[in-house]
Amino acid sequence: MKRPLLALGLALAPQLALAQAPPRPYDHVVVVSFDGMRPDGMERAEAPTLHRLRTEGAAALGAVTVGDSSTLPSHSSMLSGVEVRAHGMTFDDFHADRGFIRVPTALSFAHDAGFSTAMFVSKAKLRHIAVPGSLDVWSRPHWSCERVAAAAAEYLSTATPGITFIHFSEPDDSGHRFGWMRARYLQAIARSDRCFTTVMSSVEARADRGRFLVIATADHGGHGRRHGTHAPEDLHIPWVAWGSQVTRGDFSDPVRTTDTAATALAALGVAVPASFTGRPVQRVLAPAPTP
Ligand SMILES: [Zn+2]
Repeated sequence: MKRPLLALGLALAPQLALAQAPPRPYDHVVVVSFDGMRPDGMERAEAPTLHRLRTEGAAALGAVTVGDSSTLPSHSSMLSGVEVRAHGMTFDDFHADRGFIRVPTALSFAHDAGFSTAMFVSKAKLRHIAVPGSLDVWSRPHWSCERVAAAAAEYLSTATPGITFIHFSEPDDSGHRFGWMRARYLQAIARSDRCFTTVMSSVEARADRGRFLVIATADHGGHGRRHGTHAPEDLHIPWVAWGSQVTRGDFSDPVRTTDTAATALAALGVAVPASFTGRPVQRVLAPAPTP
């Protein structure tokens, strides 16, 4: 007697599901971008929360952004996992008639997988990355990081967040006005760090804080009063990850900004699309075995 195919399928389904289910190291991912923050700026500034997360977590201070080291192209790669030529965001201003990034972002894939997604940003042009249908929350409360952080912190204190993207613009603004690595620039990083403290207080007050992966990074660096070139000062960005599964310590593996999108998805157990150029940074997803 032949077994009905349907019954066979049902009998196999649970094992298959178990065998194929990707691991899920975390339930929540928070990506915080400090616009224009150079790694040496992060190190030199009075930034106790960034420095603490670096010590408690892992840090790649030699991470790099895409060749077009401008805000919108770089953030588009950070969140979509692909290079600029693939996502098409070659401009760096808000244009109401230019639509959205032409590829899905990590937030799109996470949202499709049933996770909540949110963006709290200080620059209107980042709206181009907010693919319709990819977000539960889009918020641009104000230019200042205090207002952005307050809105994000309130959300993070009550929501069940999947991927939350937060953007502070002060370092970039001070870089353009006073020069990268000048005193006012370092003060702007310090100010952004205080805003980051507001966000982290909200995360760390939660009972499930151990299920959070927090990535603090930047879209680009800068030199003189500008960025957008292939100069190392423009291309190098910090990449700091904090979470219970992180292998602690500074590391020198080449991290690219596109890896942020891939890492965010892998952290939630969502398959990283083959179209991504970026790859998950494994050392923040599983602790190294103790010898
Ligand atoms: Zn800029």
